[in-house]
Amino acid sequence: MTERITRSPCPECGQPQVVSAQGLSLIARCPACGWMVATTNPDHPFHDRTRYTVRVEPGHLGTAAAIARLSVALGTGVKQARDLIGQNLPVAEDIPAHEVIRLHPLLSQQGLHVTITPDFPWPLDGRSVVD
Ligand SMILES: [Zn+2]
Repeated sequence: MTERITRSPCPECGQPQVVSAQGLSLIARCPACGWMVATTNPDHPFHDRTRYTVRVEPGHLGTAAAIARLSVALGTGVKQARDLIGQNLPVAEDIPAHEVIRLHPLLSQQGLHVTITPDFPWPLDGRSVVD
């Protein structure tokens, strides 16, 4: 959880508010008088309405190993994995940001090179998005 002091004055006493992010919420509070309000955190992937497309490339693995590992990562057959790699088809398309965050480590842990379009603005280490 990170806290920052804002320029917004407390509506009760006029002292600066302190804002902290807690998951999906933003908590604004006043340390001087104890006033507090919770709002939706706009800076969170659950509120990102962009739909993303995820593709994988063999990277340093080579095509045969990439197909095998993609099959493991997705729990699909080798044939489907071969089509995805060979034809550079999307592994997932039109998915929301939180699905990308869930999917990305499954693929990257297999050593696959993952590309996301459009540019993905959220952290993908699986930790920074959940305070
Ligand atoms: Zn106050």
